[in-house]
Amino acid sequence: MPKKLAAGNWKMNGLREALAEVKALNDACPTHDCDVLICPPATLMRSMAKVCDDMQIDVGGQDCHENTSGAHTGDISAPMLADTGATYVILGHSERRATYGETDRQIRAKTTAAWNANLTAIVCIGETLEERDAANTLDIVGAQLATSVPDNATAATLVVAYEPVWAIGTGKTPTLSEIEEVHTFIRNRLTDRFGAEGAEMRILYGGSMNPKNAADIAAVPNVDGGLVGGASLKASDFIHIVQALNA
Ligand code: PEP
Repeated sequence: MPKKLAAGNWKMNGLREALAEVKALNDACPTHDCDVLICPPATLMRSMAKVCDDMQIDVGGQDCHENTSGAHTGDISAPMLADTGATYVILGHSERRATYGETDRQIRAKTTAAWNANLTAIVCIGETLEERDAANTLDIVGAQLATSVPDNATAATLVVAYEPVWAIGTGKTPTLSEIEEVHTFIRNRLTDRFGAEGAEMRILYGGSMNPKNAADIAAVPNVDGGLVGGASLKASDFIHIVQALNA
């Protein structure tokens, strides 16, 4: 069984005072069997990495450019993320796909860039409500997975996050059997393509995960953790999700 991962995506939230939340999280749960990751805004990464230096909490980015350097105003490269102390990066989040038109091919290039900088890539995939209603969920997720993930993925370098777009930040979640259906589908695609490595790759669920539903979602077969937005901002909420994944 892959080691579970509780990953917090702070999105564009958090000033320096928010570092207190990481300290509070660590105080409440200094040791845990699951991995714990916070992906703060880029402005907080270095200071958070320093705070987390002697904690069992990893720090990650929320995006990276596919190039290592150059004339890309406002962008951040994978080596820059690694230079702050980051060890993970979220790629292909649906908010970036929707707002910046990121394509599966770009996400694949970014994933390779992340690996070249020794970062573990969390590649996000998921269907819109229209796609689910049209019974296209598995086709969409399968196609995103096939194109976004490069061929040389390993369990150490790739985490897949299944995030139904309609569940992100809405308070709505799929049923447990709908989550199981998609996660089992993703697992089968990963093992078909990557063999034994695919069996060990972590598949996170993301979309309105919260302290109340975390334990039920964590118990679904092939759910190896959560990618959590809103409920990761406050230690008092996120701790319950960490504990659910730790059980
Ligand atoms: C996310 O943004 O990846 C996410 C899952 O957000 P939320 O938990 O707020 O739905």
